[in-house]
Amino acid sequence: MHTPRFHRFAALLALPLLAACSSDGSETGVSDMSSSYRPGCKALGGPSYALHGTALLPQGAADAYVVVEGEKIAAVETARANVPAGVPIIDTNGVISPGLVDLHNHVAYDFLPFWNSGKRWSNRYQWARASAYETAVKAPYNAVKHSGHMCEAVKYGEFRGLVGGTTSIQGSMDLTCTRSWARNIEFTNFCSDHVRQDVLAVTALTQSDADSINAQFSSGATKAFIVHLAEGIDDSSRAEFDYLDKLGLIKPQLVAIHGTALTAAQLQRMGQAGAKLVWSPLSNLALYGQTTDIPSAVAAGITISIAPDWTPSGSANVLGELKVADRVNRERFGGLLSDQQLVAMVTSNPAKTVAMDGEIGSIRAGLYADLVVVRGDTSQPYRALIDAKPADVLLTSVGGQAFYGSSDIVSAIGDARSYVTVDACGESRVLAATESALPIPQGQESLDAVTQTFASAGVTPIPLFSCDGAPEFAFH
Ligand SMILES: [Zn+2]
Repeated sequence: MHTPRFHRFAALLALPLLAACSSDGSETGVSDMSSSYRPGCKALGGPSYALHGTALLPQGAADAYVVVEGEKIAAVETARANVPAGVPIIDTNGVISPGLVDLHNHVAYDFLPFWNSGKRWSNRYQWARASAYETAVKAPYNAVKHSGHMCEAVKYGEFRGLVGGTTSIQGSMDLTCTRSWARNIEFTNFCSDHVRQDVLAVTALTQSDADSINAQFSSGATKAFIVHLAEGIDDSSRAEFDYLDKLGLIKPQLVAIHGTALTAAQLQRMGQAGAKLVWSPLSNLALYGQTTDIPSAVAAGITISIAPDWTPSGSANVLGELKVADRVNRERFGGLLSDQQLVAMVTSNPAKTVAMDGEIGSIRAGLYADLVVVRGDTSQPYRALIDAKPADVLLTSVGGQAFYGSSDIVSAIGDARSYVTVDACGESRVLAATESALPIPQGQESLDAVTQTFASAGVTPIPLFSCDGAPEFAFH
């Protein structure tokens, strides 16, 4: 979708917010709240612990102890005896995965139910102008927005991510009131601000804009430029790619969301240039009846990530979208993608795509402890993650801090956060919905209070958990 104008292009060309950090990542002073309150820029000094389970490591899955100290993974040990003395060991009996990285969302919309428009469209500009879209999506969104509740909308969207193992998310809003919870990909992370996005039509870019962006690519100021590209199935959608190519923007830093209309030749060109792709199959199928030519993208060597887009036409969160991708892979692509490749598309691939693979996206010593634990068949650990239902998520930690999980694991970690009990499709889990360690406006607002703000705008939000999976109509 395209309508929210979180980052107008003018903002994109402006200098990135300067993080108040020295080059080694330590904080030297806080003047800009919005860019400073991030785990990874200022160490929060959380508890130390070791998670024992079947860990999805860069070299493959293995029984391991993932030792977390402060915000980072201090070590990955294969023997219990190697875990430092005094560090509590938590036997999860589950699968420990890198935290899921959602490279495409419109987080503030994620309180809205799935919208079945009753028809298929040719491109993203058609349905966004339809009166049915106005009624189903835009009107309730605007009711919440105009009631002054964007903080709560974004927070709720991030909660929906966290309960599905999401530790980093794109498409949020740069609001100080949301400076905790999931990492926001396009804002300051790890004392760096090198990801840009433009949610408008790429055809609005001028040659002069493109020259500025290319200069940012060359200087390293921008390492990933995220745009909706060729979202549709018609010639006008395909022409967006050629337009960007003419502007000289098919580059390694280009991150194309959707690419639904792209031909094999265009994907080949993308692959040669090193450009990246974000695939949102449910949103594509529901709106257009088709999805991106992933087999050609794979053949072209493109780094592909899977992301849900938003709840009005996509999955509840990236864990839900992973199941859709798995189904599409089986039903339409002949099982081309392995379980391991699918998991990479929600972990290491998106981290690499936004040049954060030195910080997140894998489980290895030195990286930030962004982790998700799921229960399932540990003899098929990648499959266990793909098949994990909402109640199978046992822990989501961001920078080592336990934001969500089973009360057993969360209390064993001993995080000082306060938690609220939530119903994860029939099972009890706990969520750290409030933030007291950082002076965030509305940080102490309870989950109930967040939910009630929607009611005050006359809107009923969808539940925190989607227990039913993707709507069947989308696949036919
Ligand atoms: Zn979108």
